[in-house]
Amino acid sequence: MPNTRQCSNCKTPTMKPVSRKLQIYNSVIRYKCSNCSANIELTPLASIGIQLTVGLLVLGFWGMILFSGAGQAGTISLLFYAGAWLLLFGITIIPALKHMQYPNSNISNSQSPFEATSNPHLLSRAILWIDKQGFVAGMLAPIIFIALILGIAALIGYISFTYFE
Ligand SMILES: [Zn+2]
Repeated sequence: MPNTRQCSNCKTPTMKPVSRKLQIYNSVIRYKCSNCSANIELTPLASIGIQLTVGLLVLGFWGMILFSGAGQAGTISLLFYAGAWLLLFGITIIPALKHMQYPNSNISNSQSPFEATSNPHLLSRAILWIDKQGFVAGMLAPIIFIALILGIAALIGYISFTYFE
């Protein structure tokens, strides 16, 4: 469960996690300072890691298509491409800076109110599990997922080639 974080407003380690809401592919944890009642929303580092990897993969493929095609890439498509990079920086760097602004105090919360609620969805469980693993695990998760899909596809291809040819 998430640790208490240091409040950037009153400089005391009294920001406690109060709720967690699941978005489409990550969760956001809401913290409230029990000293000055400032509140913030933090995206877990693992989720930022997932977004960074997926974003880099998408922009990598997009760049390959954009710059390997015949002739010059048009101004409008270059602008869209640059905009997508800015968007990626926005959704990864801004929440990452918040983590530095409100540093982890290493004070653990033994009773977090929202940890007890069970989530029936398999995907939500996966998201919550990855959230606990940290930034690097988050960055690796999409690569492992893609490798798994490709592995299954290769296996199906192998079986159909071997047994049904
Ligand atoms: Zn405070």
